[in-house]
Amino acid sequence: MEEYIAKVLITREALGKRVAELGAEITRDYEGKNILVLGILKGAVPFMADLIREIKLPLTYDFMALSSYGASTQSSGVVRILKDLERSVEDVHILITEDIVDSGLTLKYLKENLTARNPLSVKVATLLDKATRRQVDVFPDYNGFTIPDEFVVGYGLDFNEQYRNLPYVGVLKQEAYKVD
Ligand code: 5GP
Repeated sequence: MEEYIAKVLITREALGKRVAELGAEITRDYEGKNILVLGILKGAVPFMADLIREIKLPLTYDFMALSSYGASTQSSGVVRILKDLERSVEDVHILITEDIVDSGLTLKYLKENLTARNPLSVKVATLLDKATRRQVDVFPDYNGFTIPDEFVVGYGLDFNEQYRNLPYVGVLKQEAYKVD
């Protein structure tokens, strides 16, 4: 698997350090509040799993699975909910955890959808932000790393469902795209 990585963009050590910083910031901001950490399947799982253990507050967590309509690799902004939350959110502060915000279309849809359910608040923690690619006005409240416009894999991010288990974030070699 690792022979297909052209370069490591964010090391395991840097990920751990930054996630701990985000956890400390969130712990300060949410003191005394009822938090629901919402993981967006599947990419956010490693980030969320590490982040919740750095949040030193009582919390609950749940998951949603979303899919963009259409086969294109570009996000269309039209999103289908494949798996929804298990309960009402009227008494909680929702903290969405995402792997990466690219165009922002998925997140914009999700924030609007969740806000319509009347939670106490909706905020976003993303591991990565490709800020130069943004098409809509949506900004993460907590961001691990701003990255350039390169396709990255690892720490939850996939190419054809592979590479999610790499402990770092890296860029694939061209030849990886040709392998089944
Ligand atoms: P958006 O709606 O912000 O354009 O799309 C965000 C989604 O696109 C992410 O949750 C992720 O699934 C996918 N995505 C965007 N950039 C990358 C990337 O560099 N690598 C991978 N593996 N997925 C990406």
